[in-house]
Amino acid sequence: MKKSRLVGIIPYVITALMIVSLFTYTKASRTKTLDYGAFEKVIQTKSINKVTLTMNSTVIDISGTYTENNTEYIFLASVPNTETQNNRLMELLRSRVKDAAITIKNPYQTNYLMETLAQLVPLMLLVGFGIYMINRMNAGGNAKAFEFSKSRARLEGNIKVSFDDVAGCEEEKEEMAELIDYLRDPDKFSKMGARIPKGILMVGAPGTGKTLLAKAVAGEADVPFYSISGSDFVEMFVGVGASRVRDMFKTAQKTAPCMIFIDEIDAVGRQRGAGLGGGNDEREQTLNQLLVELDGIEENQGIVVIAATNRPDVLDPALLRPGRFDRQVTVSMPDKKGRLAILKVHARNKKFADDINLEHLAARTPGFSGADLENVLNEAAIMAVRNKHSLIQMSDLDEGIDRVIGGPAKKSRKYNDKEKHMVAVHESGHAVVGLFLEDADEVQKVTIIPRGMAGGYNLMTPKEDTMLHTKSQLESQIVGLLGGRVAEEMVLGEISTGASNDIEKATEIARGMVSAYGMSSIGPVQYSKNDGNVFLGRDYTTNKNYSDQIAFEIDQEVRKIINESYRKAQQIIGDHRDTLDNIVKALEEQETLTKEDLENIVKFGTVTAPAEN
Ligand code: ADP
Ligand code: MG
Ligand code: ZN
Repeated sequence: MKKSRLVGIIPYVITALMIVSLFTYTKASRTKTLDYGAFEKVIQTKSINKVTLTMNSTVIDISGTYTENNTEYIFLASVPNTETQNNRLMELLRSRVKDAAITIKNPYQTNYLMETLAQLVPLMLLVGFGIYMINRMNAGGNAKAFEFSKSRARLEGNIKVSFDDVAGCEEEKEEMAELIDYLRDPDKFSKMGARIPKGILMVGAPGTGKTLLAKAVAGEADVPFYSISGSDFVEMFVGVGASRVRDMFKTAQKTAPCMIFIDEIDAVGRQRGAGLGGGNDEREQTLNQLLVELDGIEENQGIVVIAATNRPDVLDPALLRPGRFDRQVTVSMPDKKGRLAILKVHARNKKFADDINLEHLAARTPGFSGADLENVLNEAAIMAVRNKHSLIQMSDLDEGIDRVIGGPAKKSRKYNDKEKHMVAVHESGHAVVGLFLEDADEVQKVTIIPRGMAGGYNLMTPKEDTMLHTKSQLESQIVGLLGGRVAEEMVLGEISTGASNDIEKATEIARGMVSAYGMSSIGPVQYSKNDGNVFLGRDYTTNKNYSDQIAFEIDQEVRKIINESYRKAQQIIGDHRDTLDNIVKALEEQETLTKEDLENIVKFGTVTAPAEN
C-alpha cells in the first residue's frame, strides 16, 4: 500500500523538477554578471527596480533588477567590503535608487533560520529513529526492555506436567492434593468457611523436583501458572522490585484461580537487616511489598503462592508467619525406591538393552537427586548414540554415572607411568579397606581415569540407605578414607598430595563425632554451632561457646580418632597386602574395576575367574 503510493508520486516529482529547471534556465539567460565599472554604468543609466546588498566580511555581493524595453534583467556584481568602497557605493545608490528599493542583508542574520534548521534536522532524525526503534521492539513482543516495573512473571497456561511425571514423592504429593482441590473449586471451600493456606514453602536440596512438583500441581488443577524466580525481582534500579511484586499480583488477580510460583525465594526473602555490605535496601523493599501482597490476598480469592528454596534457614521469619508461607513441604532426596521410580519415569522414552536392570542402577546411585538421575539417563543415551549402539548398553550407563559424578572422562590427559602407579596404589588402598572392613561402604567401582578435579576415584556406597549412622560406621568411613594414604605409605614408601581431600573429609567426620554427636570421651555435649554462610545473611562471627581447655580436648579427641583409624587401615592393608598388589596390577591394566572384578580378585587373584574344567 505504502509502496504503491510512493511509486505514484514519482511522475509528479519529475515534472516539477523539469519545470523548475526550465524556469531557472530562462532566468539565467537574462542574468548579467557585471564588473564594478559596468555596474556603475547600469546604476547611472538604467531604471533600477530593486537592489539587494549582502554584506559578507570581505566582499559585498550585489544583486538587483532593472527594466529595459519592457524586459526585466537581473544583474549581479561584487565589490570589496572596505569603508571607502562602502561609502561610494551607498552614495551612488542613494542618488539613483529609491530607499525603499534597497535591501541590506547581513548574511549572519539571514542564515540564522537555516542554521537552526540544520541543527534541528539531525536531532529530529535521531528522535524519530529512537521512536521507530521503540515501536519496532514493541511490535516484536520484546517490549520488556522498557518496562522495568512490569513483573517478569511468565504465564504458563496449559501445563502438561502431571503427578505421574513426579516420581517417588508420595507424601509431598499428598500434601498438595488438598491444594489442587481448592484450586479446582475455591467456592466449595469458601462456603465451608475453611481457610486454605495461601502460601506453601517447598524446601529441598537442588534438583529434588520442587519446580517440577509445583508445575504438576498447576497441571493437575488445570489453572494458570505464573512462574518467577526470586532474582527476577532484583534489578539495578531501586524500587523496581517492589513494583514488580505489585504488578505480578495484580496480573494474577485477573486470572484467578491461579498459582504463582516463586522459585529461589531466598534471593529476595533473606532475613532483613543482616548481611555484609550495602544493597539491602532494595531487597528489603521488595520483601516488604511481597509481605503486604501476601496479606492482601483475601482467603478465597483463589490465588495460591508456592515458593521454593533450598535455604529455609536464611529466610526472614516474617515470611513464615501464619497467613503467609505457613505451610512447609519438605521435598527430600529420593531413597532407593524413589530413585527407581524416577528412573522409570525418565526411561519411558528411551530404549535399553535387555540386560539393563534399573533396580541395580537405583542401588548404585545413592545420594543422586531426581535431576542427577535424569542427567545420568540422558548422558547414557548420548553415549549410546556416540558409540553407535542401537540400544543403551550397560557401559553407556556406567559412563553416564561417572560423568554426572565427576564430569566427562579426560581421555586426553595422560599420566606418566609413575603417576599412574601412584594413583592405582592410592585407590587400591581405599578399595581394600572397603572390601575387608565390616561396616565400611561397599566398593562399587574403582577407577584411575582422571575426572574433574580428582585423579581417580572410588565409588563406595553404603550397604543400605540409612538415616542414622552408628559410631562404628563413621569410624569405618574414616578408615576407608585413610586407606589411600596408608597404601601409598606402605607400598611406595612415599606419600603424595593425592590424599588431601580424603584427609579433609576424615577430619570433618572425626570433628563431628567429637563436637556434634557426643561420640567421644568428652561426653555427649554439643560444642559446635552450625553457622550459616556470612554472605547469606548470617552473623559474621562464630560464637564459640566453650573454653580453650575444651578446644584443646576436642583437638586431642579428634587426633585420637584419626590415629586409631590410621592404625586400623594399616593393619587391614598389611593383612591383605597380596590382594592390594593384585588390585594395583589389575587397575594399571584395565583402569576401571567393577564390584564383580574386585570379588574375583579376592577369590582367585585375577579379574577373570579361572576357566572350569
Ligand atoms: P528443583 O527445583 O528442586 O531444583 P527441578 O524440579 O527443577 O528441581 O528438577 C529438575 C529435573 O529433575 C526435573 O525437570 C526432572 O526431570 C528431574 N526430577 C527431579 N525430581 C524428580 C522426580 N521426583 N520425578 C521425576 N523427575 C524428577
Ligand atoms: Mg527449581
Ligand atoms: Zn583417596
